[in-house]
Amino acid sequence: MVKTMLSAALMLLAPSLVLAQEGSLTSAGINPNYKCDSSTCTLPKCYCASNKPPNGLSPQSIPQFMTLTFDDAVNSVVEPVIQSLVGNKTNPNGCPLAATFFVSTQYTDYWRVQTLYGNGHEIAVHTMNHVARPSAIEIQGAQTALNQYAGVPKKELVGFRHPFLDYNQQSFQNLASLGTFKYESSMPMDPKGAIWPYTLDFGPAISCATGDCTGNFNFPGLWSIPMANLENPDGSLNASMDPNAPIGSTLSKDQLVTLLKHNFQLHYTGNRTPMGLFIHASTALPSIEPVRLTAYNEFIQWTLDNYPDVYWVSNQQLLAWMQNATSTADSLRNPALSCKIAARDASNIEICDGVDNKGDGQIDSGLVESCQYPTQNAYFSTCFGCPSKAPNISDISPSRTSTRGFVPDAGCPNGGTWNPLTSQCVSLKRPSPVIKVALQTATGTTTPGKSGAAGRLASGVTVGYMSAVVAALAVAALAF
Ligand SMILES: [Zn+2]
Repeated sequence: MVKTMLSAALMLLAPSLVLAQEGSLTSAGINPNYKCDSSTCTLPKCYCASNKPPNGLSPQSIPQFMTLTFDDAVNSVVEPVIQSLVGNKTNPNGCPLAATFFVSTQYTDYWRVQTLYGNGHEIAVHTMNHVARPSAIEIQGAQTALNQYAGVPKKELVGFRHPFLDYNQQSFQNLASLGTFKYESSMPMDPKGAIWPYTLDFGPAISCATGDCTGNFNFPGLWSIPMANLENPDGSLNASMDPNAPIGSTLSKDQLVTLLKHNFQLHYTGNRTPMGLFIHASTALPSIEPVRLTAYNEFIQWTLDNYPDVYWVSNQQLLAWMQNATSTADSLRNPALSCKIAARDASNIEICDGVDNKGDGQIDSGLVESCQYPTQNAYFSTCFGCPSKAPNISDISPSRTSTRGFVPDAGCPNGGTWNPLTSQCVSLKRPSPVIKVALQTATGTTTPGKSGAAGRLASGVTVGYMSAVVAALAVAALAF
């Protein structure tokens, strides 16, 4: 099975590299025709585009939010890159870094998506076949297949990114017509003059550099999460995704780290609009591009080691925080940023949920089924039984004989975990986060970190406060 999966996955490498063309150089400033009525457009349903933080907070008083997003298929080829980047990184509130995966289902191994979801990452939609300006069925089909075969509750599959960042009025209409999506994220903008996410009640606030915004582009209640382009240290524009080498040269590790740090400072010392590291895992394979993975890891860790007010969050967490925006100190306990990592301990029973329930180092051992469809060039594993054929737009939910139950659209109540073998929600214990960063001094001011966790811990935290935070997070983890 492993051999088949690997060879199949290797065949898929070529197309995934072709797909990495999205997000090339664009220049996207503010749309001069954008007008939003802030007297009627109010949270939580409507939000006007702005370069100012929500809730009247000053930029210096809030966290710097960072988003790490991965586009395209998730499979065994790119998984080592993904695990290297998302593993062993902790936010100030003790929760692991949470990334967002915009998954196209062709060439995707659904069970690997489930393991990412179980580790607290957001799963979002990027069509079935990675097509520009997609039909409704391309979007709905991917959402359905990820729900059924990766076990992600439909209520969590609310984000969408257009393949190639190529959209028009019809494709946005297709997305909105499904009625279950909360946000879209395909519009690059210039890093200087960057804005916060906003709703499209009054149309796009930035010029549509990678798509076509002709026609009625008002989509009430649908959030747009802009993608800040990267700029080079000399101020010239780089890409929004997968930073490029300077023309005529090869990107060195140090050049890439310097580029990312330069962009971080633009956001951090400016209005603290969210900064994204938007990548395709395939372009960071060490065999393809030797320096990217090292550089990305170095940059992410640098932000966490040096800035106790930096949070790497999923897009859904970012929007949830905006709807309940708090100062950096209060963000330690903000439920929007609580750990999404799945429950684990099941009294020594492994259930098929993408998580190592028993804690023996094996995830779902003996429970995952391998599904192979050579005529469709489709190979995946899943906890939910193999369908009669691979889901695709001609049949987004093929018949199957397995009795394993699909996860309910709404997931399980009260933090429960879905057991597909018994088709029941079960109650499992959750890990308690351990606060990493001593952020709050006795006087209530933020202490910038200088020398890693040890240096920050010397900055004067009250133990009682920290204990309260840990307790609050444990409760929050149960509720979310
Ligand atoms: Zn893509």
